[in-house]
Amino acid sequence: MILKDKVCIVTGAAQGIGKAIALNMIEEGAIVYGCDRAEGSMAAIASEYARFHPLYFDVTDAQAAKTAMMQVKKEQGRIDALVNNAGVVFNKKIGMIVREETELMFRVNVIAVIELTQLVSRIMARTGGGSIVNIASVTAVLGSAGQSAYSATKGAIISFTKSSAKELAPQCIRVNAVAPGIVKTERFEELYEASGDKIDTRIGRIALGRLGEPEDIAKACSFLASDNASYISGQVLGVDGCASI
Ligand code: NAD
Repeated sequence: MILKDKVCIVTGAAQGIGKAIALNMIEEGAIVYGCDRAEGSMAAIASEYARFHPLYFDVTDAQAAKTAMMQVKKEQGRIDALVNNAGVVFNKKIGMIVREETELMFRVNVIAVIELTQLVSRIMARTGGGSIVNIASVTAVLGSAGQSAYSATKGAIISFTKSSAKELAPQCIRVNAVAPGIVKTERFEELYEASGDKIDTRIGRIALGRLGEPEDIAKACSFLASDNASYISGQVLGVDGCASI
């Protein structure tokens, strides 16, 4: 159990990758606060695992985010890990990009991550440090036609990860990013069908010959959140089956 009794926060925990991260962290012994604006699987996970605590709020609502983080601090006395996973994606080709969608992606994928990092790092600094894991994307590392605005949000997260890792290191707070490839979540088929891409073509560009499972990403997050990664900070860990987009 690499996260035994660690207090971990996972945003976007109601479904997909966030749900898998929350479940893996519970299996590894953590007390997990799952945050989401939607119900999804949150109540079901809470009824099965006493160590899972659902927190319902929109990560772009700064006051609600602050109240939620203070609740965790009050209940547990500390926060050991934060996984900034909540994200939105609109796949649009250049010429079809819609400003409102781009703004929403930046608010959820970037600004909320910066604000949660500020809130949580203050709490971590007072209790001896912690680990922050930001979910980026392979699209930011390799580029992806039809995803340029979304990739820009994830590129921003990689830059934020590297700089905040340097800034927070003196407080013993490590900051890393995980860059998933294409992961088989609830929404992936719908997204790739809408973009006109064939999944078989995409799989053909993955050296390990398969799409990612949410658990592949979850295991990487639990590792980076744990003390096993105590000398790792400012890194971007690709979890993409060795992909070339
Ligand atoms: P998903 O859409 O299945 O789940 C995202 C979750 O975030 C949902 O439960 C949603 O309700 C929540 N969320 C969205 N906006 C929110 C907000 N404003 N406040 C609170 N909660 C909010 O997505 P997923 O595929 O599981 O992706 C999770 C993360 O991984 C995202 O950051 C995504 O960009 C990234 N990612 C996914 C893939 C993939 O192939 N699925 C690949 C690379 C990166």
